[in-house]
Amino acid sequence: MTQHFAQRMQAVQPSAIGELLALGADPSILSFGGGYPDASLFPVAQLETVFREAIRQPGGSALQYAPSDGLPRLREQIADLMRADGTPCRAQDVLILQGSQQGLDFAARMLVDPGDVIVTEDPTFLGALIAFNPSQPRYAAVPIDNDGMQMDGLEAALQANPRARMIYTVPDFQNPTGVTLALPRRKRLMELANAHDVIVLEDTPYRHIRFTGESLPTLKSMDTDGRVIHLGSFSKVLVPALRIGWAVAAPALLDRMGLLKVAADTQTSTLNMAATSLFLDRYDLGAHIALLRQAYRAKKDVMLDAIRQHFPQEVTVTDPAGGLFTWATFPEGFDATAFMRDVALPIARVAYVPGASFFPVTQRANHARINYSAATEDQIRQGIAALGAALKSHPFP
Ligand code: PMP
Repeated sequence: MTQHFAQRMQAVQPSAIGELLALGADPSILSFGGGYPDASLFPVAQLETVFREAIRQPGGSALQYAPSDGLPRLREQIADLMRADGTPCRAQDVLILQGSQQGLDFAARMLVDPGDVIVTEDPTFLGALIAFNPSQPRYAAVPIDNDGMQMDGLEAALQANPRARMIYTVPDFQNPTGVTLALPRRKRLMELANAHDVIVLEDTPYRHIRFTGESLPTLKSMDTDGRVIHLGSFSKVLVPALRIGWAVAAPALLDRMGLLKVAADTQTSTLNMAATSLFLDRYDLGAHIALLRQAYRAKKDVMLDAIRQHFPQEVTVTDPAGGLFTWATFPEGFDATAFMRDVALPIARVAYVPGASFFPVTQRANHARINYSAATEDQIRQGIAALGAALKSHPFP
């Protein structure tokens, strides 16, 4: 049979790191690669209770088809959470998604024609690039520092790209770097988006995993023009397997995303929506999140202490105020992909994610994303010591 794929499939390719990460799945390898929450912190007993209750709901309602926008009660509860977090929101402003990943896919499909520009952070979340690529965008990547996306870089990117259709940002504890967009930059980003009439896609799965300081206002809360699509998710604060995320956006945008939802999968799992809704009614999500913050902050501290102790001086890492990742910068000329293949996996028996694939335009080899949420504190100490020893035994170029 002759296979005739659509043009867009040219941009749909296995990621270069897939193979490496598959090696990291070997149980004898300690992986700092994935973005997995700590499974020992999953609220298993509570989930068991609410799933049992949902299955038994009168009329089999949690086992039935449901509205494609999501269960009304869950949309209300999410609107409550959004308002408690300082973002004006009504139930009808919420579209339930199959994980926030689905919102990335819908946003690009709704807004981006082949050749249109998506402005991203440089580096940015790899899963977003994977979701955007079938829409055949070009990327304008804006440098970041410890305060997130640099605003002069954003301004230059918008000026240089009149066909920019959206600015994609992970403002809180970014994946992969862990940095957070500072308040003055949030304000400036919205000014620039308004001036250039560009949609803002605000992706916030880590927002509530904050270790220190106060939450900064969401971009959505500063949106005077209905141009921010805000994405949220229960993956990191409850469990990823629920696959419950959401979008909050103005009706003109949300309605069209709702049409794409029907096309994609009709609706998110009724059972998972019903169980999540019952969880929010029965239990204290805030208390659970407080526990996660404490546990992940402790792990982050253990990892950064171990890195300071064991890594060569030349390696710098970010000190995130929340989220699941730190981002390592090695000296120029160091290839984190080759080092992982040749040394980290076979000798140190440790995996991380080489940084190159997080760069949408010009890949830079001398970075790594290192996750501290999945491993135990002892594993973190041992794995970082092994990685540090391996780095020290291979002098930098
Ligand atoms: N956005 C970012 C920045 C992420 O890191 C992730 C998951 N790691 C997602 C979106 C998707 O999350 P989910 O679909 O599980 O809600």
